Amino acid sequence: MELLTKLEILADAAKYDASCASSGAPKRDSLGKSGLGASTGAGICHSFTPDGRCVSLLKILLTNFCQYDCQYCVNRRSSNVPRARFSPREVVDLTLDFYRRNYIDGLFLSSGIIRSADYTMEQLVQVARSLRDEHQFRGYIHLKTIPDADPRLISQAGQYADRLSVNIELPTDGGLQRLAPEKNAHTIKRAMGSIRLAQEEAESDRQAPGRTPAGQSTQMIVGADDADDRTILQTAQTLYGAYKLKRVYYSAFSPIPDSPSGLPAQAPPLLREHRLYQADFLMRGYGFQAEELFQAGGDLPLDIDPKLAWALAHRESFPVDLNRAPQALIARVPGIGMRNAKRLVELRRSRAIRYQDLARLRCPMDKVKPFVVVQDYRPALADSPSEQLRRALSPAPVQLALL
Ligand code: SF4
Repeated sequence: MELLTKLEILADAAKYDASCASSGAPKRDSLGKSGLGASTGAGICHSFTPDGRCVSLLKILLTNFCQYDCQYCVNRRSSNVPRARFSPREVVDLTLDFYRRNYIDGLFLSSGIIRSADYTMEQLVQVARSLRDEHQFRGYIHLKTIPDADPRLISQAGQYADRLSVNIELPTDGGLQRLAPEKNAHTIKRAMGSIRLAQEEAESDRQAPGRTPAGQSTQMIVGADDADDRTILQTAQTLYGAYKLKRVYYSAFSPIPDSPSGLPAQAPPLLREHRLYQADFLMRGYGFQAEELFQAGGDLPLDIDPKLAWALAHRESFPVDLNRAPQALIARVPGIGMRNAKRLVELRRSRAIRYQDLARLRCPMDKVKPFVVVQDYRPALADSPSEQLRRALSPAPVQLALL
């Protein structure tokens, strides 16, 4: 098969994996070496195409042949799709070639499982080892980890990759059992645990070779089973706590050709995925607990963002006096982020905060106004019912276009 045809098939097959952002990678240093692709100075940046591909990484599968039959996956054994397979050498050459042409900043490599988990993992490690050791490649490498593989292979992968990811796939063990019976939640978590352990060892021993400097991530498919947002975010919270994950990615299930009858015929609204990312950001950056983000029911509202929803459900905490409140509470005001909360606290050390200060900090005033008190402003809507505020702050419905 032509290399270009393989590339078309295996790049397309990889687009369903959302966990390829490389945030958090310290820059690899090329000083004193003739390394290729060191990110020092230029940094690494990525953008995402509408269908989910991260365009500045070469994002491919080693192969889309797979001996497993996960129902939600287009590459499952019983799926009727064209198949292809790269050799490790071909992936190495493609990566170097694309890098030299300035098409990419690095490589995201995943794979279907062929022959055995160990064999597949060995092939993935072989690519990363060859890039690093034979070609001095210092660009970004993200390897998808096969959870059933020998822990020694996972450990080797960690020596070469900037980031490893092990996909948890579904928010509950029951969902995984039903839709991917060949996978095992225990094995997946064990692989995450071993990556975390290796990272901790590397952190405590400065002589130890660098281990996955950009940490590990995972992906959860949203809408393939009946797990609600509360379950999804609780699982994410547990994973962040137990395995120190850098990121949990949420990938809205997309119906695939000839999908099994147990799967929904329609994709969940993309807005649901977006709200989950917003809620996830609140958990990682603002100290929200998953449980706090839900009032009634198990799903996040789609019409307003989760921070506004929380504020509307906790009117007793508002309006917040920006001249007196602790920084953590100011950061919970809709429209005020962590950076502006810090700036406001710094500002009030020298003088009282006034209405114009918020505008100067470019806070979205319509959103902020109902929830704050400053020296020269107190909201008139403070006592209005939450429903009224919600209507006032929800985006106006938009007429859908016919074409
Ligand atoms: S193991 Fe991975 S590639 Fe294979 S069917 Fe399952 S999700 Fe798809």
